[in-house]
Order: sequence, then structure tokens, then C-alpha cells
Amino acid sequence: MILPDQMKVAYLQRLSEVSVKQESVPQVTGKDVLIKVMAVGICGSDVHYYAHGRIGQRKVQYPHVQGHECAGVVVAVGSQVNRFKIGDRVAIEPGVACQACEWCKKGRYNLCPDVQFLSTPPVKGAFVQYLKHTEDYLFPIPDNVSYENATLAEPLSVGIHAVRRGRLQPGTSVLISGMGPVGLMTIIAAKSFGAKEIIVTDMEPLRLEAAKRLGATRTINVKDEYMDATISELTAQSGVDMVVETSGNVSALQSSVELTKRGGSIVVVGFPAKEEVPLNVTLMLQKEIDLYSVYRYTNTYPLAIQLLESMGSQVASIITDKYSIDDIDEAMEQALTNRAESLKVMVYPN
Ligand SMILES: [Zn+2]
Ligand SMILES: [Zn+2]
Repeated sequence: MILPDQMKVAYLQRLSEVSVKQESVPQVTGKDVLIKVMAVGICGSDVHYYAHGRIGQRKVQYPHVQGHECAGVVVAVGSQVNRFKIGDRVAIEPGVACQACEWCKKGRYNLCPDVQFLSTPPVKGAFVQYLKHTEDYLFPIPDNVSYENATLAEPLSVGIHAVRRGRLQPGTSVLISGMGPVGLMTIIAAKSFGAKEIIVTDMEPLRLEAAKRLGATRTINVKDEYMDATISELTAQSGVDMVVETSGNVSALQSSVELTKRGGSIVVVGFPAKEEVPLNVTLMLQKEIDLYSVYRYTNTYPLAIQLLESMGSQVASIITDKYSIDDIDEAMEQALTNRAESLKVMVYPN
């Protein structure tokens, strides 16, 4: 295969300013694979870094390259690569862990202090035409899963990790608050783990409609409906077995203590708008509620890809906007500003 020498790279030059530059296509050696990037989803974290330049203590070092929800096709392999060959279609797990530290050895490699996660500063991301990645974090995708759908393996992984952490049991009820892409993907995860009732909340009708299509059994628009009363009614006054909070909304997190059944669990996925959130710990103790936090995911990609395959074209309906890499500035603005009409914004570097 003949590869070009140069490729396009979308650089975040400063706050809210992206521009496309030419750069050399990377060379691959050892266990590295060169992937022609076919689709990259814009994540909430990309939007946050774009608009604010930081998440908590983590600051962007300009120029930066964003994007970590990506899939593509193998175009070159290093000499020690043995699981992939040229032409293979792959989903890319963005976080490459050291595989040697205490957390990696325990299987909790999402907590690896040395993890190199695409687009998390200072590591550069996937808004490039060709990306180098180790074969250990690549996963084959079946022919009937499109590249753009395969990028959803990343947010779906967060949903899978959330329901695993909270030990979701078949036949139980789950409340998922916030129907951004992670919340929507958590519906698919909860359904696959056997949840019977999947109640979801948001304020945007577009998002609630998407939730219905993906398997939510009841949607609540918190702008028009009093959530506590509805949930109490739906669960015969006992509350839900599990709350998965994906919105980052402070009052959604606080009210989850009320809405969870005795002995149930709360899984916190969304980063709250402010660092400290007061919770009713007394009530948590009296109900012996398990509180879990979720940071990214571990060992989720094969299941995520399998679930995306089983969802077929249904899942594609959450991809609302499509841009070429040349229009990346418009793509970022769309993801940042158009919450009512936009769900997942997709960028196609090639
Ligand atoms: Zn993401
Ligand atoms: Zn490690």
C-alpha cells in the first residue's frame, strides 16, 4: 500500500480556535499499527477543553490535538504486530496503560498513573488522517458495523463500566439521569445486563426520543414533569435499584439519594459542575446505599462492539451531525452550542 508523506492534523491553537495543518504521516515500528482514521466522534470532554482549556487541574498545552472516539482501517503494521494486518477495520481504545503498575496488574488499568489517553493533555488525539496506536488496544469490528457506529464503543464503554461497577442485576430498575451520548449508551448497557425498567431523564425532547428508540422504558422531561413523584409512582414508592448519574447536574446527583431504593446503588459518571457536592449521607446510611464512581472503563471494547452490532442501524440515529476535518471549527461549535438539535457530532478525517 502506498501511503502519502503528509496528512492533515486539526490543531487546537488556543482557546476555541482549531485549524488544520499539514504534518508528516507517522512511521510504525514494533507493536505499533498505523490506522487511517475514518470517523471520530466529538466527546463532551473535547468540547470542554475547547471552550475552557482545562478540566479540573488538567490543562491543555497548545497546540493540542483533540479526539479519542475513533475507528479506522489498518494501513501499515510494525514488525512485531501479529493480531492485525493491512485492511483490517478496527475500533481504537484510546487509553494505553503501562501494564506494569499496581493498578494495571489488578486489572484496573483505567487508574494507571502513566496511562497515555488520546486527546487528554499532553497526549495528542485522533483528529488526524493517520494515527499510530499499539495493537494491544485495537479491536476488530465486524463488516456490518460502520466506522462511525464503531466510534460509539467509547461512550458505550463508559456505560458498560458503570453498570458493571454498580452490579446491575437482571430484572431490576435503573434511573439514568442525563441523555447525552454517555447516558444514551448507558441505556444499551443496562438493557444488555437485563434491567427491566430503564427510566431516563433530560430536558431536551430530541434526547428523550433517542432514549426511547434505544430502549428506555420511561422518559421524564424534568422541565415538565415532577421527577420524584413519577419515580415514586413507577416503583411502588420504593425507589429504583440503581441510579446512574451522567449529567453532571448537581441537584440530579443530590436527589439520587432520595430516588434510590433501600440497599440500592448510585453510580456517578458525570463530572459535576462544581467539585464539591453536598449529599444527604444520613439518608444514604439509613438506606445502606452503595455509592460508586466511574472513571473511564476497563476491558469493555469487545462487549461494546458486540452490542453495537446487535443494535444495528438503530444506534446510528444518535449521530446527528457530520463534518469533514476541514470544517472542524464548525463541528466543534456545533457540539458546543446546539444542545437542542445535536446529539453526537462526527468528524471524518478521510
Ligand atoms: Zn469520550
Ligand atoms: Zn499502569
